[in-house]
Amino acid sequence: MLIATSLAAALYASHAFAASGTAPGITAFTSVPPMIVDVVSAPDISASLVSSVLAETDAVWRGSGFTFVWRRATREVDPYASGNEAGPYPAATLRVVIGNETLPMRDGRLPLGWIRFDDAAPGQEIYLSYANVDRLMAVAQEVVGLLSQMPLKQREILSARAMGRALAHELGHYLLASKIHTEHGLMKASRSARELFAAESRGFQIDPLQRRVMAVRLRRESLVVSR
Ligand SMILES: [Zn+2]
Repeated sequence: MLIATSLAAALYASHAFAASGTAPGITAFTSVPPMIVDVVSAPDISASLVSSVLAETDAVWRGSGFTFVWRRATREVDPYASGNEAGPYPAATLRVVIGNETLPMRDGRLPLGWIRFDDAAPGQEIYLSYANVDRLMAVAQEVVGLLSQMPLKQREILSARAMGRALAHELGHYLLASKIHTEHGLMKASRSARELFAAESRGFQIDPLQRRVMAVRLRRESLVVSR
């Protein structure tokens, strides 16, 4: 399913949600083990941008009890080939690709990230389109500010917010094994530029019932670090 946004929307905003860890006082969901995800990015996408994207995704999911172990590769490699990663983790079943592919606009909405479904089952790859995020920023200058005057770092921060939130949403599809969309929260299908670029990721909260469904699937599918 696509996370998309109206090109006509208004807009603007940071990452800087810090490292991993569950917020103090949130202990109810700590029984869900971390999920391993391979991350591959196109050569023209900086490592710092990828880090910021993943930090944003972590921030959206923080407090839900779900955590992700991001295994990064700098080039297009086969992450399923064994032997390229030492460590205690089994092969990941999901990978995230950050690249420049695009999907066409649909109903005036621009897809930023997607996961394909094979019948009822989600695919093993989430794609994030840096090209489309760039395109969105270009038409969202009322929100993000003038791109021509924007320092590169700021542009990266803004891109990371939108891609990190798109990734958080697609992870929801993967973990739910469903194309379902809801009117509010993480699984809302369409976002304004403001929601995507604003400093705070409001409106991406995870529904408690959906969270339980995802936790069950995560354990059942052995997507986790369990050995
Ligand atoms: Zn969706």
